[in-house]
Amino acid sequence: MDPQIKQLKAYIDEAKIIVFFGGAGVSTESGLPDYRSREGRYTKLEKQQLDPKKVMNIKYIMEHPEAFFNRPKPEQKPPEPNAAHQVLAAMEQNGKDIRVITQNVDGLHQKAGHRSVQELHGHNRTWYCMKCLREYLPEEVQRDEQNVPRCPIDNGIVRPSVVYFRENPDRKVMDRSKKAIQAADLLIIAGTSLTVNPAKNLIYHFNGKRVVVINQEAIDTKALEVDLFIKGKVGETLSKL
Ligand SMILES: [Zn+2]
Repeated sequence: MDPQIKQLKAYIDEAKIIVFFGGAGVSTESGLPDYRSREGRYTKLEKQQLDPKKVMNIKYIMEHPEAFFNRPKPEQKPPEPNAAHQVLAAMEQNGKDIRVITQNVDGLHQKAGHRSVQELHGHNRTWYCMKCLREYLPEEVQRDEQNVPRCPIDNGIVRPSVVYFRENPDRKVMDRSKKAIQAADLLIIAGTSLTVNPAKNLIYHFNGKRVVVINQEAIDTKALEVDLFIKGKVGETLSKL
């Protein structure tokens, strides 16, 4: 066994509470584009002269719903969990206290069977009306002639339960994530460049024993000392365990 994988396994075995803090890189092996690489979602918007921070933004949705809901999107099949989601879910099913905090909105950890998941940036499973807050399933959303999803009750814009720019993560989700990190003795940071606030500041609540980073590139964890850095893809790495 690769010495780094052996080390990771030892950390996991000795830990009572593990937090897995993941970003876009956890889902790229499921065929989902990340944000900033050549085929990334934001790169594609920029190619159309659209500024992602302006477009994926609550102000833009309210002022230009027709442009927001007709924006260019990558074509893709419904994604399936990859080895990363599956290995973590299997560990939890085998009795390990492993809590996922994710910046992804794809729900793939839950789809793999993971129970303890905090979604910092929300999710796509339900949408809701911005006027009356009524929830809808994405497939039952009705659209007007401009392809804007509308609430049949009050004609409000119906939007995904995703946290966009200029919106804050759900307070309960933030609280639970903070508590999980404070309780953990092993923190695994994976597939994220740690550049998005306020999510990235969560990791500084960690007060436990070991910090592991699994990522294609080294990341800046500031004052948080990294015990083990594994350069590589998240699913590929975890499947070696
Ligand atoms: Zn409504």
